[in-house]
Amino acid sequence: MKLIIIANRLPVKIERKNDSFAVKRSEGGLATGLGSLKTEAEMHWVGWPGIYTDNEKEKQEITGKLNELNYHPVFLSAEQIENYYEGYSNSTIWPLCHYFFSFVQYKTEYWEAYRQVNTLFCEEALPFIEDDDIIWVQDYQLMLLPKKIRDKKPNVNIGYFHHIPFPSYELFRVLPEREEVLEGLLGADLIGFHTHDYMRHFISAIYRVLDLNCNLDEISLKDRIVHVDAFPMGINYEQYHKAPTLAGVKKRSDRLKEELGNQTTILSVDRLDYSKGILHRLNAFANFLENHPEYRKKVSLAMIVVPSRDAVDRYADLKTQIDQTIGKINGQYSTPGWTPVYYFYQSFPFEELIALYDIADVALVTPLRDGMNLVAKEYLATKRDKPGVLILSEMAGAAIELPDSIIINPNDTQEIENAILEALTMPEKEKRARLDKMQKRISTQTVKKWAGDFVKDLRHISEQNKEIIQKTLGKRQLTQLKKEYQQASKRLILLDYDGTLSPFVKNPEDALPTEELLKLLTKMTSDKKNKVVINSGRNRQVLDKWFKGLNLDFAAEHGAYFKENGKWHKNIQQKIEWDDEILNIIEHTIEKTPRSHMEVKDSSLVWHYRKVDVWLAELRQKQLINALIGPASRLNLQIVPGNKIVEIKSPDFNKGSEVRRLLQKDNYDFVLAIGDDTTDEDMFHALPPDGVSIKVGNFSPVAKYRIPLQSSVMPFFENLIK
Ligand code: UDP
Repeated sequence: MKLIIIANRLPVKIERKNDSFAVKRSEGGLATGLGSLKTEAEMHWVGWPGIYTDNEKEKQEITGKLNELNYHPVFLSAEQIENYYEGYSNSTIWPLCHYFFSFVQYKTEYWEAYRQVNTLFCEEALPFIEDDDIIWVQDYQLMLLPKKIRDKKPNVNIGYFHHIPFPSYELFRVLPEREEVLEGLLGADLIGFHTHDYMRHFISAIYRVLDLNCNLDEISLKDRIVHVDAFPMGINYEQYHKAPTLAGVKKRSDRLKEELGNQTTILSVDRLDYSKGILHRLNAFANFLENHPEYRKKVSLAMIVVPSRDAVDRYADLKTQIDQTIGKINGQYSTPGWTPVYYFYQSFPFEELIALYDIADVALVTPLRDGMNLVAKEYLATKRDKPGVLILSEMAGAAIELPDSIIINPNDTQEIENAILEALTMPEKEKRARLDKMQKRISTQTVKKWAGDFVKDLRHISEQNKEIIQKTLGKRQLTQLKKEYQQASKRLILLDYDGTLSPFVKNPEDALPTEELLKLLTKMTSDKKNKVVINSGRNRQVLDKWFKGLNLDFAAEHGAYFKENGKWHKNIQQKIEWDDEILNIIEHTIEKTPRSHMEVKDSSLVWHYRKVDVWLAELRQKQLINALIGPASRLNLQIVPGNKIVEIKSPDFNKGSEVRRLLQKDNYDFVLAIGDDTTDEDMFHALPPDGVSIKVGNFSPVAKYRIPLQSSVMPFFENLIK
């Protein structure tokens, strides 16, 4: 078994040296987190090596060197990087996911390159993927890859982690390729996000764009269940916590302290990006200096901006604006011996960055949107004897885990200004108490734990999906069932109707039996060894009308009535007279829920919501059940949520009670029950131990077998009775 990480970039730096190449590992957070994973699996990486070459010999040399490290390069041309990486990834998906709607660029060549490069990654990875391998695809540059791999290797375990925010459906829906992107992701068994908010947005997009069935964090596909969960990424806490004690770091921080004297330092560290809120932050700092002259000459902002994507115009413009704003602040407030903003447009090596974290009294982290923000966690981890204060944007994923920071809205410069003042005047004891709590959290939720949790869950889900596949009626199980069917002398066949014999349609009146179905039932019932019963929630009148002339038995209204030898019998004493209070609650729900309606049966009331928007339906369903709990328990009624319905009925009978009645009356040597809904599980429970229970659609732990698609039900029976 191998663990194969597929990411846009390999964790290496390749340098051209004369006629040869030097490969250096570059340990980013992800590589360290995964490197420390305790797993017996051999780890491989697939990704762009970060170097351009058209020369086949050079490619071979680089590949040879990388393969020694179990790295597999995907070579991309400068044009592919321009359109797939800088284009679709960073000029379409990135602004969309960070809520910079007006920055989103749509270009056909971007999308085409994105598809093409995702295919290329798939082709590079496929030759060494085996069925028991775990594939973990990283991030928004490769959203089509899970499906591409699944199409070629249906049984492999695939995980995907989205490192940036996932936007609200209202934003995501604007993407012209929204279906294909979501379908691409659904190739995975497990899809991870940093926070439950992103997860919620993703599930809402799945509902609305693909109209798929979701059950909380599970998305049901034909043959698999895709799980969605939040895994907040952490850092290598120990490494950061110990770092200030390293001799090299100490030397640097001592020097910095000496240079800065008594000055208080506020630190900010970001890549150059409009999502980081750098300009808002600078404006807030300028306002702070303006409104609090007592802090002039005492407080400086050390601003590190790491060069990034500056080949893209938008980033180059942002850089110019930052340069100008800092120039303006320094021009206005500087005095001999004091600079308000120390500005570094460069990337710092680890030891220098730690020295800055170490000496900084306050960290000012104010992104307008950020998937997680690791700088905030690194700063906190580095603090030892002298605590620091973290000011953190509520728009960063990290804010959910770090409520003891000073949380601000990054668009509100007044709030940032107030937060700076609060940080500078915070008593040492409070700083320590807040820091301790946050360190406790980030020292346990480390990057190692993040990676470990994800891989563990992925393996677990893959096992579950295998169970689903095993339970799915395949050729082998069908042959066995046919044998049992043929050998039996007396058979009881229990059939649910809606969603089983008939597809689940938006309009319940349209679910009439087809000619084909009627033919099949005629054939089934003409065999004297068979007793065929339709066990349905439908009322007697509909069943009689739809199956007129057939030698069938029925259980109607979930077992309230049954028909045997052409005669109806009732299990309920009399038609229920519905209480006004209950009727009013349902009528009120209908008024507030367009496209829903009530069905009144003799033995039950049903609220139908097949055609209602999923979110509204979920809300109203919960509200209705809450409102009904009191009156239902007083009147001894049962509330049963089913497939797009809520039913209120007597607790004395259900689909299972009818099965028990039938089994008591006669001896059968073959009993089969098939159904798609939760109410059918009562039927499955009532079967004898050797009974054959078949769930249509989603997986059910109660049923012995599963037929994933309703359309496969007829062919199954045709084959069984042939
Ligand atoms: N970083 C660095 N050198 C620098 C500044 C930052 O290596 O000079 C690192 C920093 O330690 C952090 C990462 O860059 O791990 C930034 O991650 P974050 O999640 O904060 O933002 P991103 O760049 O991923 O949007």
